[in-house]
Amino acid sequence: MQLYTKILIGLVAGVVVGTFANWAGLTWLQDLLQMIEPIGTVFIRLIMMIVIPLVVASLILGTASLGDIRKLGRLGGKTVGIYLMTTAVAVIIGLLLSQVVRPGSRIDPTTRDTIAASLADDAAGRMTMAAEKPSVGETLMNMIPTNPFAAAANGELLPLIIFSIIFGAAVSLVAQDRRDTVLSFFNGVNDAVMIVIDWVMKLAPYAVFALVGSVVSTFGLDLLRSLALYCLVVTGGLLLHVTITYMSLVRFVVGMSPIVFMKRILEAPLVGFSTSSSSATLPVTMEVAQEKLGVSRETASFVLPLGATINMDGTALYQAVAVMFIAQIYGVPMGVGEQLTIVLTATLASVGAAGVPSAGIITLILVLQSVGLGAHVQTGIALILGVDRILDMLRTAVNVTGDLTVASIVAKSEGEELVPRPVDHPIAIGSS
Ligand code: ASP
Repeated sequence: MQLYTKILIGLVAGVVVGTFANWAGLTWLQDLLQMIEPIGTVFIRLIMMIVIPLVVASLILGTASLGDIRKLGRLGGKTVGIYLMTTAVAVIIGLLLSQVVRPGSRIDPTTRDTIAASLADDAAGRMTMAAEKPSVGETLMNMIPTNPFAAAANGELLPLIIFSIIFGAAVSLVAQDRRDTVLSFFNGVNDAVMIVIDWVMKLAPYAVFALVGSVVSTFGLDLLRSLALYCLVVTGGLLLHVTITYMSLVRFVVGMSPIVFMKRILEAPLVGFSTSSSSATLPVTMEVAQEKLGVSRETASFVLPLGATINMDGTALYQAVAVMFIAQIYGVPMGVGEQLTIVLTATLASVGAAGVPSAGIITLILVLQSVGLGAHVQTGIALILGVDRILDMLRTAVNVTGDLTVASIVAKSEGEELVPRPVDHPIAIGSS
């Protein structure tokens, strides 16, 4: 059985058992699901553990083997350009759908205030986190690390990416014998990392069951009912973005059948869904891109780490819907000017959001403030907080799918042939 089939079974079983435990009010089953949740946490920690060595080794190797600084510029420009464009399209889909369905106009003020009051404390915590977020200027400056080891130690991916690109570009200019020594070292690191990923992924189906089962079993079904239309608009928008935007790009730009594409990449969005973290999914995304899609290591190692930190179409789309929902619910009109502001700020806010669980709801606060919803930020956030985890899972799966779509487009435009290349990782000692 393929690994993605096993993961899918784990996921469906988690949803079914979790929903049943919740719906039937079986506390013992809910407790049991909570008890096995650590299996999921162990899995997340294990893949997070290899993100830093993976990003450093693969980016240094990738950039050094580009061979030409101009190629680096071209690849960088293309990648960031396509990332921003697809994100803007995602926001527009979110806005249009919210205009048509108007999910916020159908909730009565009493329900609104009860939900908002029940999660007020939690929302206040998010406000503090948003207030501590650095400004745009500071964020740009922080992208340049003063100490790459400190950035690695704090799990700050973007500064580490910048360092690895600069270092890799420099390695490509070093005399050949010394360059080979450096590259051979990082090649070894990279192979070892890939072997660890293979090991960790064996745990994935059980981890996915544990993660999804425990989230779903504690989820407030009542809350889901009152916010059903809002959740449906976000989910529908995400589905539209995947099927229309990504699949037409895959069909017409990459020239691959969307079904084949989805089958090949499925493992990555499934892990994204279960972990709610693009960064934690990065090792899986990298492996899928190279082995299942046939994207070269140079392209994958450049496009994907960047994507995991700056490309979040699912997050941007969700933010657009959330802003419109909160505006509708409090009767604040959103004209063309405000909506253009949303396109801009939601795109930037998704770039600024880290690839970790719930990052999107914190940067959402900035989008709300940018369109004059400052007075409703705290209650608005409290209102949607209860269903955020489920939507986070969905938007992360979309974020990861977007990264892989763009990686395929960039690979294709660089003349790469996209055929699966299952890699037998070279295990030299003690292999059987
Ligand atoms: N969890 C999302 C991700 O890692 C970010 C977010 O929307 O909260 O891609």
